[in-house]
Amino acid sequence: MNRVRVILLTQAVGPLDYKLPAGMAAKPGSIVVVPLGPRKMVGVVWDEDAFPLDPVDPKKLRAVYELVDTPPLAKGLRQLVNWAADYYITAHANILRMVLSSSSALSSAATITEYRATSRVPTRMTELRAAALDQLEGAQGLVRELASEAGVSDAVIRGLIKAGAFEPVEVGIDTPLLLPDPDFAAPVLNNEQSAAAAAMVGAVKQQQFAPFVLDGVTGSGKTETYFEAVAAALRLGKQTLVLLPEIALTQPFLKRFEERFGTQPATWHSGMRSTQRRRVWRAVADGSAKVVVGARSALFLPYMNPGLIIVDEAHETSFKQEDGVRYHARDVAVMRGKFEGFPVILASATPALESRHMVQTGIYTGLEIPSRFGAAKLPEIKAVDLTLDAPERHHWIAPPLVQALQERIERGEQSLLFLNRRGFAPLTLCRTCGHRFQCPNCTSWMVEHRLVKRLACHHCGHVMPPPSACPECHEEDSLVACGPGVERITEEVQRLFPDARTIMATSDTLWSPEKAAEFVARVEAGAVDIIIGTQLVTKGYHFPNLTLVGVIDADLGLEGGDLRAAERTFQQIAQAAGRAGRGEKPGEVLIQTRSPAHPVIAALVDGDRDAFYDAETEMRKSAGAPPFGRYAAIIISSEDEREAIEAARAIGAAAPKADGIYVYGPAPAPLAMLRGRYRHRLLVHAQRSVDLQSMIRNWLNELNWPRGVRVGVDVDPYSF
Ligand code: ADP
Ligand code: ZN
Repeated sequence: MNRVRVILLTQAVGPLDYKLPAGMAAKPGSIVVVPLGPRKMVGVVWDEDAFPLDPVDPKKLRAVYELVDTPPLAKGLRQLVNWAADYYITAHANILRMVLSSSSALSSAATITEYRATSRVPTRMTELRAAALDQLEGAQGLVRELASEAGVSDAVIRGLIKAGAFEPVEVGIDTPLLLPDPDFAAPVLNNEQSAAAAAMVGAVKQQQFAPFVLDGVTGSGKTETYFEAVAAALRLGKQTLVLLPEIALTQPFLKRFEERFGTQPATWHSGMRSTQRRRVWRAVADGSAKVVVGARSALFLPYMNPGLIIVDEAHETSFKQEDGVRYHARDVAVMRGKFEGFPVILASATPALESRHMVQTGIYTGLEIPSRFGAAKLPEIKAVDLTLDAPERHHWIAPPLVQALQERIERGEQSLLFLNRRGFAPLTLCRTCGHRFQCPNCTSWMVEHRLVKRLACHHCGHVMPPPSACPECHEEDSLVACGPGVERITEEVQRLFPDARTIMATSDTLWSPEKAAEFVARVEAGAVDIIIGTQLVTKGYHFPNLTLVGVIDADLGLEGGDLRAAERTFQQIAQAAGRAGRGEKPGEVLIQTRSPAHPVIAALVDGDRDAFYDAETEMRKSAGAPPFGRYAAIIISSEDEREAIEAARAIGAAAPKADGIYVYGPAPAPLAMLRGRYRHRLLVHAQRSVDLQSMIRNWLNELNWPRGVRVGVDVDPYSF
């Protein structure tokens, strides 16, 4: 049989058949280069039973150009791709693009040419060149990378290379990675940790599918515990993937990993340079990268010999991808373990309600570490009732929290103030005419960022300088900032404690692994008294001298009232609280709220997580909400508002009527306008017994819509 079925890396065409030239041994999973019209494209040979194709006259088949010299994608991975395309209602090509990541990784060259800045000054100097050289002092990278770093076109960089301001360097991409040593520095685990570790190590040795929820309170030493499972996989020569929710978290993690295993693991995230990307991709595919620490995109890589996946902070919302293929990395991780036959560990101090439910129903194995490691105790949590203890006018820190901060400063201890809002103020309005600054592209307010003197949209990135007068009524000095963001809280702290050393920690300040490492180093060195941060600093970090956590506005996340608002708020505050008292000194947590009796706040104060989760689970059950029922959102968008509405109505009108499903809408989507596109939404609610995916696929396949309309399906939407 010399005919193969190939999935091309574009969703524009379905799978196509090609003929194999004599002597070319391609089989399912092989990566090939094939002709498509006048172009060459990368594709993957696929199992024929996945797509029923019509027979073609063999004489009409075009031939595969080239078989790429890299291991074919394993059967388990192909099954995962089939599953993901089916489950998330998307084309195989979209999933395969994540597997192959950059098809450039497929070149067989062992080196890549990068360019390094020399100190030679070009004879012809332009303003653009001077600015680029200024930006790129000491830089090295591909032309494209240098250009984007300096904000100029590729041509400018190529000109500078010709002029001698950059010189070529050959960078090896086949240099072997160092091997982590499972016995480098194994810690002595306490009894609780040992029991959990034993269960996971046993499962790793078996190399069979086994899903675990490693449920240990903050500071219990979950990392040390699951490192034993990593060590077991290393001893078997198997590869481990550790998924982390945030790149800001990787630096401290890499340090701990190195202390335990003697060398750093390979890393994978979207901000990587492409040389490194190629190198790691190849090491993943040939099995030489034994441990990969990565963001969710590391999940689809073609591990040659996978034996374990750990999802750390598995409850985190950032594991849900919201654009492109809308998938949940936690769920895909479990499926990957299932198809390829190895254990998957979901680690969290506040597991997702769904994960906890899986443990309760016996589908996942729960492993608990109920107390903190060593002498550390869980912090004492109190609510500050803002209706009784109000902050001063235009202030947000109430007297009890001011007092507690004062005590920490006097004792030389550190504090963390948590507010999940970047910028200075979430809303700017004119006090004369009431005009509010809205993003021109999105249904959202422009957020004032005073440090960089901008108003910014947090959804599309649109920025504008802060106007001095109102654009509506033209009144000067009439604009007021409403409500607090972390910048404003920082300002307040600096006013209250002029001598305290503060640091703001948000994605605006910790935008690279280096920045995050700098932040950790400063806090660890004791050069900081008060951290003011968003959810970015509430997880993972271990600062033993931090004894106070203040939650500025616990009610913030409870507004809006979507399905997961209570759960998410509980998780966020519990994680923030978990930063307090991790060393020998006891920790204290003050939660500012206007409703101290709210079940979320009460559960946090009483330390009764189970009561809260049980009540939430009951509520979900009676509403038929996940995990008892399922949802899918269909988002219909267009730059033309009428077109979006009409398409949404037409799709809604064609909704299938059947038992066990209910379709709501269309209605404006939660962000009714995003990046200049009007968005309408249909929400499908289904009982577990309904085959939701087939139903939606059949429904949408029957319909057509104008070219400008995009229809996307979000299966298991996170918030709605
Ligand atoms: P978690 O992730 O569960 O919040 P960590 O893994 O950060 O907790 O552990 C808290 C602290 O206790 C860390 O400094 C960690 O190095 C330390 N630790 C945990 N277990 C051990 C152990 N068995 N031996 C020595 N130190 C440990
Ligand atoms: Zn916007």
